Amino acid sequence: MAFDVAAIRQQFPILSREVDGKPLVYLDNAATTQKPQCVIDAIVDYYTQCNSNVHRGAHRLADEATQRYEGARDIIAGFINAAAREEVIWTSGTTEAINIVAHGLGQLLKAGDEVVVTEMEHHANLVTWQQACKQSGAILRVAPITELGELDLQAFESLLSSQTKMVAFPHVSNSLGTINPVKQLTAKAKAVGAWVLVDGAQGIAHGAVDVQDLGCDFYAFSGHKVFGPTGIGVLWGKASLLAEWPVWQTGGEMISEVSYQDARWNVLPYRLEAGTPHIAGAIGLGEAIRWFSQLDLEAVADHERALIQRATELAEAFEGLTIVGNAPDKTGVLSFVMNEGHPADIGFLLDRQGIAIRTGHHCAEPLMNRLGVPGTARASFSIYNTLDEVEALFEGLKKVRMMLA
Ligand code: PMP
Repeated sequence: MAFDVAAIRQQFPILSREVDGKPLVYLDNAATTQKPQCVIDAIVDYYTQCNSNVHRGAHRLADEATQRYEGARDIIAGFINAAAREEVIWTSGTTEAINIVAHGLGQLLKAGDEVVVTEMEHHANLVTWQQACKQSGAILRVAPITELGELDLQAFESLLSSQTKMVAFPHVSNSLGTINPVKQLTAKAKAVGAWVLVDGAQGIAHGAVDVQDLGCDFYAFSGHKVFGPTGIGVLWGKASLLAEWPVWQTGGEMISEVSYQDARWNVLPYRLEAGTPHIAGAIGLGEAIRWFSQLDLEAVADHERALIQRATELAEAFEGLTIVGNAPDKTGVLSFVMNEGHPADIGFLLDRQGIAIRTGHHCAEPLMNRLGVPGTARASFSIYNTLDEVEALFEGLKKVRMMLA
């Protein structure tokens, strides 16, 4: 089936709005994606039809809310091919998902243990491990990247040893677009007996993810990067690990028995989900994944590849522009700097033309320092972007160059 971008766009109401009288060209998808009408409807329908707390209700609304909420968990489990639905833990997003694992690891590490991350981490997958290491006396090792912005595989492997307890890396880099060879990296980490966490924040919206095939122990992602709401995300982990992992927050829902002096923890997934959850968010994310997974995901990937290829051609031919991140295997992320102006000026002047990109360090400050840039301008493409919008970006950049010259 041919990929019909016009039909996809029609499902996203925000894409037909204007900014200062100009059609919105939304190229900030690595920050957050827009939401199709069906996701918005699922949230409204929950609040208008069955708003209620889940699990403990003795009435119709509570039953219906619980069915929708737990049904969403089944949809996620199916999409990522989890071995069991209990392996899907609702979190507020990727950041909280990584914090759950890092917080627990901080209690399991001893002085001299090692954690390996990469130079291309988002702060969420860096500061978390850094702090876990600081608390436990473990050592954080950082695997370098090459000039193209790929992970240096030899250097990565040389950092692994019997001391390595955790290896954490992004499925896809948010600032460079680099797609990491997750299976290969995981196999290397597993060979030394380490646990593996994949930061899937940027990986989840670009194709099918099969956690069992990847072989990792934990996979984290945010709903809002995959056409779902903000404030909801997922930690997937192997049941055997999650069932024993130190609990994250304590309180309601995560207990099975409580006395004044002590408490016993609930079974998975609830032992890692304290308090009233983000019910509407989970239902919205379930709908987003249902919607996304019924698309031809190969065609989606081809479409995004065509966008980044055209953007790269135009960028290479654009005088005074340097692409930051040239890995051969990339998602639709074009990070760049221009001779004429600071990234913030580029972003501001594009916004005046209705073109939304992101500028700055993209929550990867050490990476920007490593690359010797103050930050970049980043255009990031999604399923609903068109080749015309890629052309519009570069027409916009020509005007920016004139204004800054
Ligand atoms: N990791 C990566 C690679 C990301 O791109 C992001 C979001 N920019 C995060 C982690 C954190 O995601 P969230 O803010 O949704 O928790």
